[in-house]
Amino acid sequence: MRRYAVFGSPVAHSQSPRIHAAFARQAGIALEYVAIEAGHADFASRLAASGVDGASVTLPLKEDAFALCGERTSARAQRAGAVNTLIREGAHWRGDNTDGLGLVRDLTERHGLDLRDRRVLLLGAGGAARGVAPALLDAGIRALYIANRTAARADALADALGEPARVHPRGWDDLPALGEFDLLVNATSATRGGALPALPMALAAPRSVAVDLGYGEAAVAFLAWARAAGGAQALDGLGMLVEQAAESFLLWHGVRPDTDPVYAQLRAQADALVSAD
Ligand code: NDP
Repeated sequence: MRRYAVFGSPVAHSQSPRIHAAFARQAGIALEYVAIEAGHADFASRLAASGVDGASVTLPLKEDAFALCGERTSARAQRAGAVNTLIREGAHWRGDNTDGLGLVRDLTERHGLDLRDRRVLLLGAGGAARGVAPALLDAGIRALYIANRTAARADALADALGEPARVHPRGWDDLPALGEFDLLVNATSATRGGALPALPMALAAPRSVAVDLGYGEAAVAFLAWARAAGGAQALDGLGMLVEQAAESFLLWHGVRPDTDPVYAQLRAQADALVSAD
């Protein structure tokens, strides 16, 4: 049986094993997919010891995975400088990044949003932000403001994207002066280790859509802020999670699964948890 795994820290909460098991049942493929806890120091050794044929990579390891692949990376992984999907090639790893396509598919196909000509704020400049930024630009947005706690990291991401006319790096302190956005994307992991820093209400307008790339508890604070700020829609990252996983599944197995039933199941489970609170 072929083995796959998701690597990250913390990873015990990951829905990826469940998603890939559902895709595999749909496609009639026998596989094992497990979650393996690993940090910066032990990622390479745990990956080597795992014996997997392919791997998903989650926080905080996407930039580590990019470095591990050397030159064996797709064009979209190179633009992101981050890898979320590893494909075994003999003794080497090839790296790809399906996060951006996953987010754009969820927003445009599942939620019917038109991203063209939109003014977008991306909060965060870590692995996930690096993955989604190129795909948002490719979807035709008008401007991308990147605000990060460590401003130098926002600068580095903007430099890597190489589109100074459309991409504007900012520090967190600049947020009050930025005006309104059509789309606000929270790609920080702030709520995992503490609290989301205060965000000015003036960032959102009645037409604004807010997306947290996290889901469950991790998304509660940002989505509550978005609703309080009066935006049109507040979405979590569950749809992106399923779509990026489907793209990885396609890379590993050559089959693109039907994501709708898997998304519906996860959504029902997430909604049941919220109403039980
Ligand atoms: P990284 O560790 O690579 O990056 C973390 C980011 O969050 C950095 O920009 C960091 O800023 C910022 N941050 C952390 N703590 C704080 C804080 N207290 N205040 C402000 N900013 C903070 O993580 P990832 O980019 O891989 O993941 C980010 C989020 O996206 C996670 O919640 C993850 O679950 C989610 N995600 C969801 C996916 C999906 O499919 N739905 C896919 C990928 C990610 P700094 O640079 O200053 O440290």
